[in-house]
Amino acid sequence: MALGEFELIARYFARQPPHPGVRLGIGDDAAVLDVPVGRKLVVAVDTIVEGVHFPAAMSAADIGYRALAVNLSDLAAMGAEPAWFTLSLSMPRSDERWIESFATGLFALADDFDMPLVGGDTVKGPLVVTVQVAGSVESDRWLARSGARPGDVLMISGVPGEAAGGLVSIQQSMAETAAVRQLRSRFLRPTPRVRLGRDLRTIATAAMDVSDGLLADLDKLCAASGCGAEIDVEALPVSAALAATFDAGTCIRYALAGGDDYELLVAIPASHLARAQQLGCTRIGTVTATKEVVCRRGGGVFHPERRGYDHFDEERSP
Ligand code: ADP
Ligand code: MG
Repeated sequence: MALGEFELIARYFARQPPHPGVRLGIGDDAAVLDVPVGRKLVVAVDTIVEGVHFPAAMSAADIGYRALAVNLSDLAAMGAEPAWFTLSLSMPRSDERWIESFATGLFALADDFDMPLVGGDTVKGPLVVTVQVAGSVESDRWLARSGARPGDVLMISGVPGEAAGGLVSIQQSMAETAAVRQLRSRFLRPTPRVRLGRDLRTIATAAMDVSDGLLADLDKLCAASGCGAEIDVEALPVSAALAATFDAGTCIRYALAGGDDYELLVAIPASHLARAQQLGCTRIGTVTATKEVVCRRGGGVFHPERRGYDHFDEERSP
């Protein structure tokens, strides 16, 4: 039997006991929340649409997880500490099993960050999930895209390109090897680099999370900072799982233009290079005073086929 909207919210989304700091949560017209004293509020929202941001075959639990993960990644890129989130859920029907599984994936990640769901909206329509997150940062310093300076080192967390490989392996129904499983998990359950963002907060000059492709997003960071960059293609972290699944050219293309990894791209003063390496970042290039982003490979200039994904510009395929 299909559950009504209010029973569904009460059963799967309103959790007890209420979280400290939440004066009014789910059930009233709006949430009332304590704002941490002496800190700045940091807010982000992201929508994922079935067939656009995730394949229709994706499990409800993975959709729930990913909807929050992509938002937490935005807080990570600001160096913020997660606090609360809201959820707007549009779905074609009230399918209790689907919702239960969705909530399991969603709260698995929310609980990792002790982050309560404080409100939302539930409507009938195509499958579209919007999550809004709020966090806070010490008022003296947050990470923005705009502070990179010529001479800074460009670094990336994790291994860019794996999520794109995972998405393609799903779209093409590739046989499930251990490598393919690894790639898929990077797409289905990206790790928001919240702790890393907090650790980089006082040393990075600029940061953003990579969702549309490393080069496409680097263009944005450079534009915001009024500078350019040189990327050393040979310095990109190498993924054994990608290399086992795709040819060398494809691996480079996914690393440079794939997106969906939700890794952090940061500019770091050279004096903090060792610290950022300890934190798990890899040096991939340098910030320059030009307005261009140039890729280098084997001493020459490398011209990538594509830079990333733009919703209103290109078909989706990495
Ligand atoms: P209103 O009509 O005042 O906007 P609703 O009837 O839409 O309120 O929602 C009732 C309560 O349930 C509100 O507190 C709202 O924040 C919460 N809510 C609705 N949908 C969700 C959801 N998907 N997740 C969490 N809370 C939700
Ligand atoms: Mg109301």
